[in-house]
Amino acid sequence: MSENKDQKFVYDFTEGNRDLKDLLGGKGANLAEMTNLGLPVPPGFTITTEACKVYLESGSAPAALRDEVSAHLAALESKMGKKLGQSDDPLLVSVRSGAKFSMPGMMDTVLNIGLSDESVVGLASQAGDERFAWDSYRRLIQMFGKTVLGVEGELFEDALDEAKAAKKVTVDTDLDAADLKKLVKVFKKIVAKEAGREFPQDAREQMDLAVEAVFNSWNTDRAKLYRRQERIPSDLGTAVNICSMVFGNLGPDSGTGVAFTRDPASGHAGVYGDYLQNAQGEDVVAGIRNTVPLADLEAIDKASYDQLMTIMTTLETHYKDLCDIEFTIERGQLWMLQTRVGKRTAGAAFRIATQLVDQGLIDEAEALQRVSGHQLAQLMFPRFDEGAKTTLLGRGIAASPGAAVGKAVFDSYTAVKWSRSGEKVILIRRETNPDDLDGMIASEGILTSRGGKTSHAAVVARGMGKTCVCGAEELDVDTKRRRMTVGDTVIEEGDVVSIDGSTGKVYLGEVPVVPSPVVEYFEGRMHAGADDADELVAAVHRIMAYADRVRRLRVRANADNAEDALRARRFGAQGIGLCRTEHMFLGERREMVERLILADTDDERDQALSALLPLQKKDFIELFEAMDGLPVTVRLLDPPLHEFLPDITELSVRVALAESRKDANENDLRLLQAVHKLHEQNPMLGLRGVRLGLVIPGLFAMQVRAIAEAAAERKNAKGDPRVEIMIPLVGTVQELEIVREEADAVIAEVEAATGTTLKLSIGTMIELPRAALTAAQIAEAAQFFSFGTNDLTQTVWGFSRDDVEASFFTAYLEKGIFGVSPFETIDKDGVGSLVRYAVEQGRATRPDLKLGVCGEHGGDPESVHFFHEVGLDYVSCSPFRIPVARLEAGRAAAEAKGSDSR
Ligand code: PEP
Ligand code: MG
Repeated sequence: MSENKDQKFVYDFTEGNRDLKDLLGGKGANLAEMTNLGLPVPPGFTITTEACKVYLESGSAPAALRDEVSAHLAALESKMGKKLGQSDDPLLVSVRSGAKFSMPGMMDTVLNIGLSDESVVGLASQAGDERFAWDSYRRLIQMFGKTVLGVEGELFEDALDEAKAAKKVTVDTDLDAADLKKLVKVFKKIVAKEAGREFPQDAREQMDLAVEAVFNSWNTDRAKLYRRQERIPSDLGTAVNICSMVFGNLGPDSGTGVAFTRDPASGHAGVYGDYLQNAQGEDVVAGIRNTVPLADLEAIDKASYDQLMTIMTTLETHYKDLCDIEFTIERGQLWMLQTRVGKRTAGAAFRIATQLVDQGLIDEAEALQRVSGHQLAQLMFPRFDEGAKTTLLGRGIAASPGAAVGKAVFDSYTAVKWSRSGEKVILIRRETNPDDLDGMIASEGILTSRGGKTSHAAVVARGMGKTCVCGAEELDVDTKRRRMTVGDTVIEEGDVVSIDGSTGKVYLGEVPVVPSPVVEYFEGRMHAGADDADELVAAVHRIMAYADRVRRLRVRANADNAEDALRARRFGAQGIGLCRTEHMFLGERREMVERLILADTDDERDQALSALLPLQKKDFIELFEAMDGLPVTVRLLDPPLHEFLPDITELSVRVALAESRKDANENDLRLLQAVHKLHEQNPMLGLRGVRLGLVIPGLFAMQVRAIAEAAAERKNAKGDPRVEIMIPLVGTVQELEIVREEADAVIAEVEAATGTTLKLSIGTMIELPRAALTAAQIAEAAQFFSFGTNDLTQTVWGFSRDDVEASFFTAYLEKGIFGVSPFETIDKDGVGSLVRYAVEQGRATRPDLKLGVCGEHGGDPESVHFFHEVGLDYVSCSPFRIPVARLEAGRAAAEAKGSDSR
């Protein structure tokens, strides 16, 4: 980071605005915005994030900073009519961190800068309150000692406790001025001893050191960890806000509070917040006394209350969103200390967006930007009954959503054993590792006492779609004794617990689970227009309608049977983008496939295929009927054949045992031979996909015949089948040409035999790098491409998904190699570049080439935006993700339109 000569490192609150968050941080930008709205903000200025970056990179603040701060401080002093630290009437300031993204509690703040042995006397006489002045001074030494000079905070706490004990009182408000004077002496001694220097008496030195401490707090371990977990870039730096102090602890006509412009849980308008009389902000956090509801302020100080209500309306109208606010009242004068667009629950996000549309504050396109697919997905999980009586055990990180109930087990072996006997279990560990995988699969949910959002438990649970709460630190997990302790409560193996992966809460006993009303709505069991319709459902309904109106991407489902297809249709699917036919070969049909693989002669093989044909045909008829009038992409058989054969070890043991008894079964011996022959070291890269179709004569032809006959039958029954045949794992156009020729011949035969014209289209998956790189050639033989981004991600990265996710992905995420698994969100730079290239090349050869994606990414919010941007025609995802994909496709289109017209 090089210093630019004309660079400005300090902005007065009157100079900034809310769009300057990169430079002034969230807090600084909003303080400036409020100042310029004419709201009562204590005057002050902001040191930019750029200054912080220079400091962090070079080890010292930019050369120009000192003079700039001096000039702004002088202006502040003249505005306030007093000087920083002036002995008879000191100006005091707070020094607060404020990064672009809120990092609650992560970084430092020092209040009451400017107090010294001399100016504390001046403050006492100005305020007419000696106790207040000495209390402010001891707070400064305590905060400064801890955050700036690195003194162990407990030393101050202990000294404060001793002072209270000596006076036989329990709360610090019972200490008088004389006690606090003594305490200041003790605190100064602690500083001198522990920091090896006296507490600085010079106000400017205090301020400069505090600014440096805030800069340094960007790189504390906890701040780094938080950023990694929240995916906040590590190079943003923090701004520093220097603000003249106002005091809420000057008597009963003073106080401090927090407020929301509407309820962050429901979105309802009203008076929401807390107020604490005669207190400073940190007292609210410390919970020394109980706060009162904000509405009570009306009776305490009507003038300030009315002013606050007016300001809240101003802020909401100005920000066009829910705002949260921190304020202080100093002797009847209201001051605004902070505002920002407030966090809200997923449900409130939808409600607030539609409420703001109704109020005329935002339009539909903006409403779409106020919600997200992640929030919608959260609303679709079953949840705990809010009305149920619960016993809260503790709270951890909401790592993977859902509501799970089960018996506590403390090791994977027990989890598997109990779940096999039909028990529902919750696996509780300090943290999980790859050895716990079986236990995690067997459990309803996973609970850990350590680790954050990128811990093994969190990553793997999210990948599996399992409920997970991690890092619940209050829980003392003792895996050896198979129990956990929370305060006085001991939870033994077998005790029932309930965990909420959407809130991170952990409960004792069984909490009843209710289905999500949003799913009930998508299923058609609840109507948004009904009189008793849930407010949330009505909001979701409206937002989905906006999304459907603007989106360009169509949304299809990955579904293999009529039941899934029908659900997908109810959820808004516009077709099937991937029917994996291998799912139709399992169960009882597995034996038929076995016969096909074992066939020695053409006759045997034909018999096996003929037995499969009618079954396949029946599957397709059902599917085409469920999706009548909409496109259905049927993929020919993809996975390695050995997946249809018995496990090699099990079968070897069976044969060996039989041989030792001298009653070896002829069929088993043949089977074992076949299993050996088909065994592969890397099945993912072996005999699968189109390769199977090319080496097993008649296999693809049988599937194509089943598809064509099913389509013909539907047509003859006056149906409207729109079938697309998809060839998997193609790497070169020649493979596709051979399969196509064979398929075309079969289709022509069926057309002739049934007297129908079928118009089946034939296309391919693009899931190998070579396919993407030669897309221009492949498009000559393909009427459509569907990007198989699961395999494309595996092959571009050289990752075997089944192996890597559970083994080293946690380490990769923790080291920041990627922020999110590339199997979850498309890797735009790598895999995405190939997709983009193949789209361009494919369309250059065949302008009407239909393009879609059917890997898991088709239902991932961020990836949907990418697919919109590269110009695909549709995304295809599991039925449950369809609403999310619809919403995100709408958001992507609205966002793109917004930026076009800007
Ligand atoms: C893919 O590879 O993205 C795909 C959809 O195919 P499968 O997951 O069945 O390999
Ligand atoms: Mg694939």
